Amino acid sequence: MAKANEYFLRLSSGYLFPEIARRAALWQEKHPGVKLLKLGIGNTTEPITPHIAKKMREKIDALENRNTYTGYGDEQGDTPLRKAIAELYGREYGVSIDPLEVFVSDGAKSDAANIQEIFSEDSVVAVQDPAYPVYVDSNVASGRGGFYDEKKGLYDRLIYMPASEKDNFIPHPPKEHVDLIYLCFPNNPTGAVISKERLREFVEYAKREKAVIIYDAAYSDYIREEGYPHTIYEIEGAKDVAIEINSFSKNAGFTGVRLGWSIVPFSIKAESAPDGTIHRLWNRRQTTFFNGASNIAQAGGIAALSEEGRLECKGLVDYYLENARIIREGLEASGLRVFGGVNSPYVWAKCPEGLRSWEFFDLLIDKAHVIVTPGSGFGAAGEGYVRVSAYGHREDVIKAVESIRENLK
Ligand code: PLP
Repeated sequence: MAKANEYFLRLSSGYLFPEIARRAALWQEKHPGVKLLKLGIGNTTEPITPHIAKKMREKIDALENRNTYTGYGDEQGDTPLRKAIAELYGREYGVSIDPLEVFVSDGAKSDAANIQEIFSEDSVVAVQDPAYPVYVDSNVASGRGGFYDEKKGLYDRLIYMPASEKDNFIPHPPKEHVDLIYLCFPNNPTGAVISKERLREFVEYAKREKAVIIYDAAYSDYIREEGYPHTIYEIEGAKDVAIEINSFSKNAGFTGVRLGWSIVPFSIKAESAPDGTIHRLWNRRQTTFFNGASNIAQAGGIAALSEEGRLECKGLVDYYLENARIIREGLEASGLRVFGGVNSPYVWAKCPEGLRSWEFFDLLIDKAHVIVTPGSGFGAAGEGYVRVSAYGHREDVIKAVESIRENLK
């Protein structure tokens, strides 16, 4: 008889967002006709910009014509897109990336989930707490997480790097040895951004411990203040120890189009393996299990990286950053303590004294009819906070913030 994968069975109960949807639906059932205002999920709401849409439309036209039709492309991505991504790093961040180190994907979530496959099963994994759930779940589902401790809200084989308020939600490198470290900045969910000095501590740790950092930079275009690295490769030596994941979802509005990339440098080392092994294994993994990102999406990606496209994306990010400002200031005016939301689309709000994340979530629905995301859903250290997302139409964001201000007294 077929046996279910025991590691999958170890995944702790339901994914956060279905649980939010369940509670919202239940509330709605009891309160028909009342409109819930959503500041929960990190899903984009504003349309794809004109230049990028035009280039995707042209690609569709080319696919309609037998002389210009193309089928499968390279699994690693179309060469012009790989080149355009490498050029972005050179032009905007002064970092040298070989286009062959760029692997195009159908989004950062897939890469964040799949990258662990090329590392040994017995790798010790460190994650930020709180964290985007995919890093934890992908490692639990592949046997590196151990068992979930309900009481502690932690997996017993993972090493957690808690983010505390006194450290501006920037964790420190682990005290013990680990092999893989997942970092995400600007951070989902806390909205924290890491300085070069603090990121250097992780790169130094990785060099010393011969560890690899998986750096999720999906929100890098939201960094507007000086002094924060947009890519981990701005830190000297990072190309020897870090894989970087990025996405077109949150800057070009490709959450539904689906396009992302990973940089897997040739120079990353693995124990007892020849140089270049990690790069070679990711190439092997992608060419074996992935058939390339949509060619229409890739045409959009090339357009997004052109001068015109970058300007359009900046406008889109500006829009969400303005939403974040409205949320931050509105919540502050309601007497809440808030963090993030400056170089990030996420505002991290502390629950009023004595309330836990889900309690505050329920209170916000009940009193203000606003849906947020409970911080505890991102890890034990997120308890006592909620994440408020700037993804929404301006008028809805304003309504939600006003409702909180008026009803949360
Ligand atoms: N990484 C982080 C930190 C995210 O917050 C998200 C989406 O919310 C993703 C990756 C997923 O991005 P994509 O849409 O490219 O799969």
